[in-house]
Amino acid sequence: MEQVITCINCPVGCRMTVHLSDAGEFLSVTGNTCPRGARYARQECTMPERMITAVIPVEGSACPLSVKTATPVPKKMIRDVMAALSSVRVSLPVSAGDVILHDVLGTGSDIIATRNLP
Ligand code: SF4
Repeated sequence: MEQVITCINCPVGCRMTVHLSDAGEFLSVTGNTCPRGARYARQECTMPERMITAVIPVEGSACPLSVKTATPVPKKMIRDVMAALSSVRVSLPVSAGDVILHDVLGTGSDIIATRNLP
């Protein structure tokens, strides 16, 4: 079984063909220009992950706070993470890098602020 994917690790955007067993196990990849593409292909076909970015309201401020996951989280949890973020409220001041939500949904990834709001 083959799957064609595009590497998103850099602007080159190599199109890669991933070879999978009938059980869906990663076998090999072609079309990648560098080892990062091979790592991405294996990850994408076994347990895809994504960084999540969002904005959340700040009490007493008309300016929302931009946040992101500190590390990639399982792609299948994006909706759940966004739902968890929808109920988060923060108070001023906030500094870039502050942990807004620790270990979101047990993913092992914190939600962190990406900007200062004094
Ligand atoms: S395989 Fe390497 S060169 Fe190609 S898009 Fe991925 S990171 Fe960039």
